[in-house]
Amino acid sequence: MPPREFDLIRGIARRAGTRDDVVLGIGDDGALLELPDGELLVASTDTLISGVHFPPDTPPAAIGFKALAVNLSDLAAMGASPRWVLLALTLPLAEEDWLDDFLQGFLGLASQHDVSLVGGDTTRGPLAVTVTALGVVPRGQSLDRRGARPGDWVVVSGVPGRAALALDRLRQAGGDFSQLAPHLLDALERPQPRLDLGRFLRGRVHSAIDISDGLLQDLGHLLPEDGGLGAEIWLDQLPVDDDLSAVPAQRRWTLQLTGGDDYELCFTVPDRERGAWEDWAETLKLPLTAIGRIDEGDGIRCLHQGRPWQPPAAAGFEHFSGEGDEP
Ligand code: ADP
Ligand code: MG
Repeated sequence: MPPREFDLIRGIARRAGTRDDVVLGIGDDGALLELPDGELLVASTDTLISGVHFPPDTPPAAIGFKALAVNLSDLAAMGASPRWVLLALTLPLAEEDWLDDFLQGFLGLASQHDVSLVGGDTTRGPLAVTVTALGVVPRGQSLDRRGARPGDWVVVSGVPGRAALALDRLRQAGGDFSQLAPHLLDALERPQPRLDLGRFLRGRVHSAIDISDGLLQDLGHLLPEDGGLGAEIWLDQLPVDDDLSAVPAQRRWTLQLTGGDDYELCFTVPDRERGAWEDWAETLKLPLTAIGRIDEGDGIRCLHQGRPWQPPAAAGFEHFSGEGDEP
C-alpha cells in the first residue's frame, strides 16, 4: 500500500469513534460487529459524485455530512437504528486539509447518532464518496415500501421543496454560496436524517419511504407497479415555510413535488389512526402533514381546489434520463 494512502487511512482511523459492539474495526480485512439478539441487520449504500450530487465547489465538511446523512435517511425509512458505517473514498489528491474538513462533517454527524466508522476503501480518481450504512431493527418491526392500502393517509415530515428552492437560489446567484441565507444553505447541504421519526413509526404506519428524488416520484414507489392503487395529493395542503410561501404557486408546487434532496419521510397511515400524526408531531417536535390519500384510482393525481394539476414533464431526478445523449 502506498505510504500516502496509509497515512490517510491512519488519520481516518484515529478519529473514528468505536462503539462497544465493534469487535474489530478499521485496520483488518473486514470489521467484526456484534449483532443484538432478536434484531435484523439493515444494510444500505449510496454514492455521491462531484458535479452530479453536489456542486464541485461544495465545502468538504458539507460533502462529508451529506454523504452520511443520505445513507442514515435510508435507515430511518426502514425504521432502523444506525450502528456502523463503511466509507469508500475516491479522491483526486491526498490532501490532508480536505480530508480533515470532510471528516469533521462526516464524523460529527456519526457521533451525533452514535455511529462508528468501521472500515472502507481509499482510492485515487475523480471525487466520489460511497457510504454503506448498517443498522438494526427488532425483527418484525421494520418499515418498508410495500404496505400501502386504500384509505391510508399520505403524510410527510418537514417541508419538502426546501432543498430544491435552495438550489434554485444558488443557481440564480451564479453558484456563489455566500449569497445564500444560512438556513437555505443548510437545507441543501445538511439534511437531517429523520431517525427518531422512523423508529417512532414502527407499528404505526402501513408503508414508508425517504424522499430523495422528489415527493411524487418517491410516493410512486409506495404504489404497486402492477397498478391497483393510486393516490390523490392536495396541493393546498402541502407544507410551506416562509421561503416557499413567497414562491408563485405553479413554481412552488413543482419544487415541492419534484425537487429532490430533502430526505424527509413520506408514509401512509391507516384510516383508523386519522389525525394521530398531529400528536406524533408534537411528541417528535417535527411537522407532520397529511397531504393526500391512497385510493384504488389510477396513478397519482394532484388536485388544486378539486381541479387536476399536472406537474411539468421531467418530474423528479433520474440518473439515466439522458442516456444515449453525448456525454
Ligand atoms: P485491503 O487491501 O484489505 O482492502 P485497505 O488497504 O483498503 O485494505 O484498507 C486497510 C484498512 O483500512 C481496512 O480495514 C479498511 O477497511 C480501512 N479503510 C480503508 N479506507 C478507509 C476509509 N476511507 N475509511 C475507513 N476505513 C478505511
Ligand atoms: Mg481496500
